[in-house]
Amino acid sequence: MVSIRNIKCRLYLNSTQSSLMEMYQSHCRLVWNLALHQREEYWNKASTHGPLQYKEAHGSISEYGQSAELTVLKNDFPFLYDTPAGTLTNVLTALDQSYKLFFSNLKKKNGLAGKPRYKRSTDSIPLKFKGNANTKRGYTPVRIDGQNYARIFLDKIGSVRFRCHEEVIGKVKNCMVKKETDGWYITLAVEGEFTRENRSHKMIGIDLGVIHTVTTSEGEHIDMPTEFQLIEERIKFLKSRNDRRKVKFSNSWKKEVRKIAKLQQKLARAKDYFIKMTANKLTTENFLVVLEDLKVKNMTRSAKGTIEDPGRNVAAKSGLNRSILSNNWAALRNKIVQMGSKNGCEVVLVNPKHTSQTCSSCGLIHIDNRRTQEHFKCIGCGTEMNADVNAAINILRLGEPKFRSSTDDKKVA
Ligand SMILES: [Zn+2]
Repeated sequence: MVSIRNIKCRLYLNSTQSSLMEMYQSHCRLVWNLALHQREEYWNKASTHGPLQYKEAHGSISEYGQSAELTVLKNDFPFLYDTPAGTLTNVLTALDQSYKLFFSNLKKKNGLAGKPRYKRSTDSIPLKFKGNANTKRGYTPVRIDGQNYARIFLDKIGSVRFRCHEEVIGKVKNCMVKKETDGWYITLAVEGEFTRENRSHKMIGIDLGVIHTVTTSEGEHIDMPTEFQLIEERIKFLKSRNDRRKVKFSNSWKKEVRKIAKLQQKLARAKDYFIKMTANKLTTENFLVVLEDLKVKNMTRSAKGTIEDPGRNVAAKSGLNRSILSNNWAALRNKIVQMGSKNGCEVVLVNPKHTSQTCSSCGLIHIDNRRTQEHFKCIGCGTEMNADVNAAINILRLGEPKFRSSTDDKKVA
């Protein structure tokens, strides 16, 4: 199966190239801010005149319409011609996507995606370079012999050097260049066959929890390192201390801001690494992984608890919201699904309703089965075990028939 894989590498630019990139960034910020302003104006007017009537009279606002206006804008600001055309149009695509996310979440009323914001001069904006199969220089990175570096040809920039730990096999569809706290990075979107053969005979159910991040039906716990919490607290402390400073934008204030940004980057990378490694371990050691199809956002919002699932939501109300967000359940679940297709492991999502109250040995469903967050004791047969392990076993039971029926369908087809 052909899929896209992202490879992120450190990018080394010479002084001309980095000043060009900075210039592209400022052009992209300008386009973003103007396009955002246009959209806000449109929605302001539409909300006063009635959206449908306004749309009928003035047409709707879209990515394509704005792309067409980009040409007009370029004639007003000819310096925009210095930036690759694809990079500028991608800014409008990105804006459109973030608006779509914003609107979709508005409908659900529980989303975390906010309204798109104006970019400040300090904000980094990703620069997309589209792959062009027709260029003679090609779009395949050339590895420099005997070194861990490779080169790739970018539109209007020329040949750039990046650190490359592995051979890039496959076709590079596009590149994304982004400035981070400690320098430039390039992400190559490579298309190819990446599926590995899965030789495992095991299958597991997974319960995502507050006390243990991951609990498997075999009784194994995988916890998010406690250091993450410490770094988060440190960031919070530094931020509040910096906010209390009397003189803003002083040298020491700026120094502190850089320090916070570095810590945030460190935390984000460590979390990514943990999520990736956990997802990889689970999908290589098993041929079937069953996960609960949790609405993470719903759970973070309602700490009160529901009739179906009181054991989970009642506990540790105030601490729960923060704990779930710092545990990054959604990110982990998405990674397991993504890594599953890569490692040849089937991932099945099931509705977790009643899984925490059902006895895994006799099947009795009762609220009193789970008295505390950690302990499970069946009031029917007396089975005692860790509540998360019990839930994980139930999740596996729910997912297995779903998996069998889907494989049977494939055989018939
Ligand atoms: Zn029982």
